[in-house]
Amino acid sequence: MAEMDSTTGRTFAHGATRFAPSPTGELHLGNARTALFNFLLARHAGERFVLRVEDTDASRSRAAHTEGLLTDLAWLGLEWDAGPGREDALGPYFQSQRGAFYARLFAELERQGAVYPCFCSALELEASRRAQRSSGRAPRYPGTCRELTESERGRKRSAGLAATLRFRVPGGRRIEFTDLVHGTQSFLSDDIGDFVIRRADGSAAFFFCNAVDDASMGVTQVLRGEDHLANTPRQLLILEALGLPAPRYGHISLILGPDGAPLSKRHGAASVREFRERGYRPEALVNYLFRLGHSSPEHDLLGLDVLAGAFDVGRLGRAPAHFDEQQLRVWQKAAAHRLSGEQARAWLEPLLPAGIGAEAAGAFCAAVLPNVVLPEDAKPWVEIVFGAAPALDAEGEQIVREAGSAFFAAAARAASANGNDLGAIVAAARTASGRKGAQLYRPLRFALTGLGHGPELAPLLQAMPAGQAERRLARFA
Ligand code: GLU
Repeated sequence: MAEMDSTTGRTFAHGATRFAPSPTGELHLGNARTALFNFLLARHAGERFVLRVEDTDASRSRAAHTEGLLTDLAWLGLEWDAGPGREDALGPYFQSQRGAFYARLFAELERQGAVYPCFCSALELEASRRAQRSSGRAPRYPGTCRELTESERGRKRSAGLAATLRFRVPGGRRIEFTDLVHGTQSFLSDDIGDFVIRRADGSAAFFFCNAVDDASMGVTQVLRGEDHLANTPRQLLILEALGLPAPRYGHISLILGPDGAPLSKRHGAASVREFRERGYRPEALVNYLFRLGHSSPEHDLLGLDVLAGAFDVGRLGRAPAHFDEQQLRVWQKAAAHRLSGEQARAWLEPLLPAGIGAEAAGAFCAAVLPNVVLPEDAKPWVEIVFGAAPALDAEGEQIVREAGSAFFAAAARAASANGNDLGAIVAAARTASGRKGAQLYRPLRFALTGLGHGPELAPLLQAMPAGQAERRLARFA
């Protein structure tokens, strides 16, 4: 069944995936990859991609983080079909605005007796966990408040104790589901303690709102981090109790740093913002993340549409993926070298000296682009092209000396007559010296740039201020 979006007129196949970040920090590469995979899964099947902001934990959620998440996702090109700024009948897409909906479902669970108030304090719970651990058992809620009578509950309430709401996990059940990545999963309900679905402050807890929102937003497939695998049976129990449909879940491996620990700030840049600010291109990140944990026969830098066509949950690996910045740089290099002149200028603009003029800026960017992976690689060339005459190293001094003063006098005269025109300079030096090939070019390159290697000389010279080539050549005449 196809559904039409009333604002864009786009039609979608029935079904949706989603990305559901908690705005408690910056968009980390691991979460960016989760978003990408859900986006591609949706696009592959022509389904909707939903963005839901899981901001029920008021103490940890920040509006600034939400802004950051939206900016990063948009920058990566992961456009959502429904979510913040694209509200529709299934919203709102901020969990903090869905309290009335959750309250209805809490009431329904209370009516069924599927939940109960729990008055245990954090301290009591911690003591119980410690005791269980020290006797070699996995900690789970011991059921202290499970069978309180109404009058006991009343007494605790009038003593001013705040209650959480716990889900009463049915005993003796086996909960099975087929994970899109890990295959058949089986859990025993007896291993799962009753868990909190509403915090003492009245806000809905993760297990609950995450599950019921997927159901109410029409989400049919969820790819998320492996750290959520053990949450899934709890969420399936909630949905079952409410008679709501469960999505198919796929749990994707973590991204590890080079030392084998989960990728984090300790490994240097780990957030999308940091990579963006260092000048990484979105298409480089997207192409790299696509290959991180998703095997692919495609080795080219591909657009999101092509990646969506190639995306296949069957290709998601179970083993953790290792982040390797060198690999990211390979994609970055491919992305940088594909930039149009205009894009390259916008990308390198912040490095250029003020007031150099459009022509010089364009020539500079065109010249250095093939030698640049990140904007920082262009920095030394800004200095070389626009700054003071660069000093030569011993090798450069020798090569320049061997070419001789007549060589440079002729070259400088040509520059004086024709400006920073490499053709005229080379022709004059050739005629004066009879040199050719490297013998002709290397002394000129050293004199003009201070180095024996680098970007093509002709566009570099075009970027230089008037008289610059002449002054640099005349130093050796
Ligand atoms: N807000 C949760 C998180 O960021 C979402 C988990 C999920 O995708 O189900 O970890």
